[in-house]
Amino acid sequence: MTTNDDADQKRLGAGSKVIECPSCNKPVAWVTENEYRPFCSERCRILDLGAWASGNRYIPDDEEHSDVMSGQVSPEE
Ligand SMILES: [Zn+2]
Repeated sequence: MTTNDDADQKRLGAGSKVIECPSCNKPVAWVTENEYRPFCSERCRILDLGAWASGNRYIPDDEEHSDVMSGQVSPEE
């Protein structure tokens, strides 16, 4: 394990906005240093994305696919 959790805990009392991690509900300081916000850690972010992907059809982050999905471009045959 890393010491990131300890560092985050220390920031909580610094007057920063505090939210709850959507994945584990742990208090998370909303600070620019937290690149994983609104999640408390990269692990939770990945877990949440995994849950989202498993409960929904995977949508590629690809504009060409989006065009096909919306019918603006005909799929190649
Ligand atoms: Zn979390």
